[in-house]
Amino acid sequence: MIITGKTKVLSVIGNPVAHSLSPVFQNAAIEAAGIDYVYTAMPVANEMLEDAIKGMKAFSVCGLNVTIPHKENVIKYLDAIDKDAEILGAVNTIVNDDGRLIGYNTDVVGFVKGMKQNGFEPAGKNAVLLGAGGAARAIIWGLVQEKVASLTIGVRNVPKVKPLVDYFSQYMEISLLDWQSETFDQALQGAELLINATPLGMYPQVDNMPPIQWDKVQDGIFVYDIIYTPAETLFLKTAREHGCKTLNGEAMLVGQGAESFRLWTGMEPDQRVMTKALRKALEQGK
Ligand code: NAP
Repeated sequence: MIITGKTKVLSVIGNPVAHSLSPVFQNAAIEAAGIDYVYTAMPVANEMLEDAIKGMKAFSVCGLNVTIPHKENVIKYLDAIDKDAEILGAVNTIVNDDGRLIGYNTDVVGFVKGMKQNGFEPAGKNAVLLGAGGAARAIIWGLVQEKVASLTIGVRNVPKVKPLVDYFSQYMEISLLDWQSETFDQALQGAELLINATPLGMYPQVDNMPPIQWDKVQDGIFVYDIIYTPAETLFLKTAREHGCKTLNGEAMLVGQGAESFRLWTGMEPDQRVMTKALRKALEQGK
C-alpha cells in the first residue's frame, strides 16, 4: 500500500485505542479492494473529543470508528445520526459527507449479519440472551427488528437491567429473569437461539461461563458467543459438545467493521479477508 497526497484517511478513535484490531482488518479489506484509503488508530482524551470531531471536518477525514469511551458523548458533535444510533444512544461509525458528519451504529447489522451469514434466520425463533450490558443493547435491538417470536434475557441482577428492558418493551414484550431461576430454565428449554453477551469465559478467565443448566438446552439449537478471545470459549465448547451449532464473536466484530467500510466507501468489503487478518492478529497477540 503506497500512501500519496490523494490517499483518503479513515481511523478509529477511543481512549485507549492502541489495542484496537480494527486497523488490522480494515487495512486488509482496503488492500483487497484495491482502493486508495488508509485506516489508522488515534487516541482521543475525553476532554479533547469535541476538538477531535472538529478536526475530522477540518482535515477532511473521510470516516471514523468510535470506541469506548466516546460512543455516547460523540453524538452531540454530529450533524445527524441514523435510527439504530438513536435507539441505542451510541455511535460507532461517522461518515464525513462533504463536511456533514453523520453518525451510525453498525453493531446491530454486524450482530444480525453474523448469524444470517452462518445459516441462522432469527425471524420467528425463541431467543434467550445472557447478559445485558453495552453490547447487549445492539443485540436486543437487532433481535427486535428481526422479529424473533420471543426474547428472554437472563442476568444475575434483575433490578439493574429493568430500565433497559422497560425501554425496549415499547417495541416488543421482553421477559427479564434471574438466570438461576426455574422460570428461566423453562425459557431455556424452548430456546432456539442462545446468546452470551457477558464477558464470562473471555481470555484470560477462560474457565468461566454463564451458570446455565445445559441439560435444559435442546440439541441442535444455534449458540452465539460474542466473545472472540478465545476463539472457542468454554460456553461454545459446551454447546458444541451438546450438539448445538456455534458461532463466536469474530462474526459480529468483522460484521460491524464491514458495514462501516460499506458506509464509507460504498463498496462491499471481502469479509473472508477481514476475518483472516483478524484471526492472524489474534493468534500473534497471544
Ligand atoms: P458490559 O457492558 O460490561 O456488560 C457485561 C454484561 O455481563 C452485564 O450484563 C454484566 O452484568 C454481565 N457480567 C459481567 N461480569 C459478570 C459476572 N462475573 N457474572 C455475571 N454476569 C456478569 O460489557 P459489554 O461491552 O456488553 O461486553 C460484553 C462482552 O462482549 C465482552 O466479552 C466483550 O469483549 C464482548 N463484545 C464483543 C463484541 C464483538 O463485536 N464481538 C462487541 C462488543 C462486546 P452486571 O451488570 O451485573 O455486571
